[in-house]
Amino acid sequence: MSIKVPLLDLQAQYAPLRDALIAAVTRVCDSQRFIMGPEITALEEELAAFLGIRHAVAVSSGTDALLLALMALDIRAGDEVVTTTYSFFATAGAIVRVGARPVLVDIDPATFNIDPAAAAAAITPRTKAILPVHLFGLSADLDPLVAAASRAGVPIIEDAAQAIGATYKSRPLGGIGAFGCFSFFPSKNLGAFGDAGLITTNDDALAKRARLLRTHGMEPKYYHHLVGGNFRMDALQAAVLRVKAPHLAAWTDARRANAHRYLTRFRDEGLGDRLTLPVEPPGRRHIYNQFVIRTAERDALKRHLDDRGIGNEIYYPVPFHLQPCFSDLGYRRGAFPHAERAAETSLALPIYGEMTAEQQDAVVDAVAQFVSRRAGVPAS
Ligand SMILES: *Cc1c(COP(=O)(O)O)cnc(C)c1O
Repeated sequence: MSIKVPLLDLQAQYAPLRDALIAAVTRVCDSQRFIMGPEITALEEELAAFLGIRHAVAVSSGTDALLLALMALDIRAGDEVVTTTYSFFATAGAIVRVGARPVLVDIDPATFNIDPAAAAAAITPRTKAILPVHLFGLSADLDPLVAAASRAGVPIIEDAAQAIGATYKSRPLGGIGAFGCFSFFPSKNLGAFGDAGLITTNDDALAKRARLLRTHGMEPKYYHHLVGGNFRMDALQAAVLRVKAPHLAAWTDARRANAHRYLTRFRDEGLGDRLTLPVEPPGRRHIYNQFVIRTAERDALKRHLDDRGIGNEIYYPVPFHLQPCFSDLGYRRGAFPHAERAAETSLALPIYGEMTAEQQDAVVDAVAQFVSRRAGVPAS
């Protein structure tokens, strides 16, 4: 009968690389060098070259990359950081953790990314940075954000956790703002065997500061210039990532091919006006960490897919301004209608590169079946 399709199948990516990955892990174990050292240095060089950004600093997670970027820019209590209300929690969480205030703005409903005009309008004399997220693997609209940031004299920090290898007008994400922050959480396009992250910059002085803060502001040993933290990536994770990174470009191509296949098939099935499909505006290369569709009947579609064993996920059910832990920021329901609507209507479908054509057909058929049964119910 119908086949089941997981949202993500890490086993399918692991199987052909298993021997190389085990050999890399064994190499670190045999060296007994777990903290910093040659694996970290080599990974940083390889990723900087791959991304086309001058400096890459390996860190403990994407969350810590954001925290470290904010600390390196000296953002602290009393400061404001303009960001989107619609992202994974870490984006706003990191701002609060340095004592600053996230000034939230609504999204462009077509791309799910921060609305640049709303971001510009949210700038005040207390603004110390703008923090756009390249959500789902698609670049935020950077030119107007860069213009607004430079008018205000503040840096941009790119949350590129979901967007490794994506570009904006042919420029690599993570190298346009003062800092780029990446995550190697296993479900990201380049996933480690646990937590790991990366901070990138084209600025030599900022790179130096980030490296210093990564290890308690210490240089040389036991002499501390800044109060940083322990934000180091494990050598074991670096060794794993070095095996996987050379495959990233091909994996991204496979995700893009799957996305195009979805778009073609959904349109062929006549679902184009029943579902809102993801867009790739000119000049922005999407890497499809997620393939997110929208429908007013999202919850019913989710149940339909769950019942048929078709993986799916809601990214994200609650925007930041409605999260209990941010209630003291004073935002109300209705403040950011596009993000609130996205939280009610968006659903991610399986897009991983190893998905077979048969599996993808099963996803399309299940969605098409749902839509045809619902014919007559108003679309989104
Ligand atoms: C995954 C993610 C993070 C956090 O990365 P971790 O490595 O899980 O700490 C931050 N921002 C966004 C947009 C993410 O998707």
